[in-house]
Amino acid sequence: MARDSRYDVLFQPVRIGPVTAPNRFYQVPHASGMTNALPRVRAAFRETKAEGGWGVICTGACSIDQTSDDAPLPFATLWDKNDIQAHALMTDAVHRHGAMAGVELWHGGASVMNRASRLPPLSPSGVPWMATHVGFMGNLRPKSMDRSDIRDVLRWQAEGARKARTAGFDIVYVYAGMGYLGYEFLLPEYNHRSDEYGGGIENRVRFVREMLEVTRDAVGMDCGVALRVSLEELRGRPGEHHESEAHALVALLSDHADLFDVKMDSSPTDCSASRFTGEGSHEPVIDFVKRMTDKPVVGVGRFTSPDTMVSQIRRGVLDFIGGARPSIADPFLPAKIREGRVEEIRECIGCNICISSWHDGVPVRCTQNPTAGEEWRRGWHPERVTIAHRPEKVLVVGGGPAGLECALTAARQGHEVTIADRNAAWGGRLTFEKTLPGLSAWNRVVDYRLGRLAEMANVSMYLESELGVDEIADLAPDHLILAPGARWTRMLYSSMEIPVGTLEHPAVFTPDDIAAGRLPEGPTLVFDFDNYYYGGVLTEHLAASGIEVSYVTPAGQASAWTIMTNELPLVHRALARRNVSVTTLQMLTAFDGTTATLTHLFTGETTAVSCRSVLIVGLRLPRRTLVDAVEARRADLEAAGIRSIVTIGDGLAPGAIAHAVHSGHKAARELGQSEGRRHYLRDMPITDCEPGFDRAEAAE
Ligand code: ADP
Ligand code: SF4
Repeated sequence: MARDSRYDVLFQPVRIGPVTAPNRFYQVPHASGMTNALPRVRAAFRETKAEGGWGVICTGACSIDQTSDDAPLPFATLWDKNDIQAHALMTDAVHRHGAMAGVELWHGGASVMNRASRLPPLSPSGVPWMATHVGFMGNLRPKSMDRSDIRDVLRWQAEGARKARTAGFDIVYVYAGMGYLGYEFLLPEYNHRSDEYGGGIENRVRFVREMLEVTRDAVGMDCGVALRVSLEELRGRPGEHHESEAHALVALLSDHADLFDVKMDSSPTDCSASRFTGEGSHEPVIDFVKRMTDKPVVGVGRFTSPDTMVSQIRRGVLDFIGGARPSIADPFLPAKIREGRVEEIRECIGCNICISSWHDGVPVRCTQNPTAGEEWRRGWHPERVTIAHRPEKVLVVGGGPAGLECALTAARQGHEVTIADRNAAWGGRLTFEKTLPGLSAWNRVVDYRLGRLAEMANVSMYLESELGVDEIADLAPDHLILAPGARWTRMLYSSMEIPVGTLEHPAVFTPDDIAAGRLPEGPTLVFDFDNYYYGGVLTEHLAASGIEVSYVTPAGQASAWTIMTNELPLVHRALARRNVSVTTLQMLTAFDGTTATLTHLFTGETTAVSCRSVLIVGLRLPRRTLVDAVEARRADLEAAGIRSIVTIGDGLAPGAIAHAVHSGHKAARELGQSEGRRHYLRDMPITDCEPGFDRAEAAE
């Protein structure tokens, strides 16, 4: 299909100093959880995006020295020739598809704890970075950099830049954002210096300017030099000669950078979840940059709509459409626009499960794209599957995220797929969850899959069709996939974290009751020990329905696990806005219809709370009815010709939607395969033992 000419502008080449990007699709640096210990996993992950049409592909933060050590959080390094070789796998892979490779050279300053290197963190004035996330907290405060420390960092940056050029990178970054060292020099709260590096904005940009200068000297005209800078704080500060200090910064550094990569200051505002923020949310902060410089500007905003992208270019906000999450959710987003296949874009839902992977210290996971991170180790491609030698009959029972993904992937392989759900609409848990405050974008998981399934002639879809063993035996597929989902329980736990049985009372509700339209009588006490989004969002939902509601959790914060997805501060704000009281460190231990008893997690002290109903958001268990019935009659089903029976998604192990989608994808890829073939490849670091690599020698 021909592409709409409106989108032609997105495919124009753009110069970045001495190099030229082939189009305006720019995968900005983003964490992938793939350190130098997983060089092949990383190269394949980045290569897939280049293949999908992104014109520039960058690494995540790449440390220039052992004084910038974020362990145990994952980070890349460019310290020695092994690192050069590890990165060269990625640059070669990216170049194979005509894209350019960028490296985000990085010094974490006071924000890293140097847990592995045990070297003192560096900072302009000994001021620590405040960490609110347990993974970032540490008990080592930074030293104040003297002049020789500044000279050292400039030297490490120059050496890093030379190594980057040797590794084959086309764009080399100076990083001055998100609390890291360059940023700390820019903000007077971190920078109390009385020398030429402190004081007015002209002095505070000096360190960053020198970093740009040494980078330029190091790479000459072989690479573009990019500045990545957070502008949220500085934009709020009036400048002496400019509208704000952010304006002054761009004016002062315009001659020194080939590209401005502009962003917000902290992860929750920079990578905000769709639950609280829409597409293009950075624009009010970064919209001025292009007026202050003739250098190209890249910014992000969870852009998935080509019309929004074109609008950003036409209105002079951005030159490059930056993408991190949209490029993870759909590595082929540019190709789909280029080829007039816009409706096939697998749009990022803004759930931030990808970010949780970094906080978890593991390679990236994505709700929408189950192949992310699996390109090398499992050989999964987001757009290609192996076509079956012989199409077989696949029956999928359950049309939630797991069942839909499994049906789609099996159908793409050419199988004859039947999918049935007892409900009147597709989407399983999402049919209700998409109606909750802020979660409408999550239904893209369903919309994308239904859109593709509707185009396929080899798929039959049946709603309002509850299947039992007899119906399954009658259909007699070759492969049976059970995706029945999970149910919420009334289970409670002791303060020793041991299950203590269920709380039975007619006014005790579970999320399934709410989804079924049974609203509790207020005041309602929500007791949440699931700790992800559901307890918080259901509390919002009840409050929005006019029910007086309070929120109680044994965790230290509301929706405690959402710290991993950048949502936690905004969950608290949302509950406060709805006048919901939040009580932490308390266990629900009894309820008699008028009074709930709370027991303090650590002291055992009890408190009586008046309420008419209780909603427990705690333990989910797989729906076993159909699975058990199938197991009980496995012999009959095998006699009817069913060769494999697999349970997937929440019906196997309840979890986030990302897990269900991955489980459904995996089951389809492995249809009929024996257990022995299911192990993934294990990557390993490149070490001194690696045979010959001449570019590494050249870097010495
Ligand atoms: P997952 O996240 O694993 O996809 P969901 O709970 O979202 O799980 O979806 C499971 C779907 O399976 C629900 O829509 C439910 O109605 C459907 N389902 C469960 N049991 C049956 C059955 N016996 N026949 C048809 N559909 C079923
Ligand atoms: Fe988008 Fe969620 Fe995938 Fe991240 S995990 S890229 S937020 S869909």
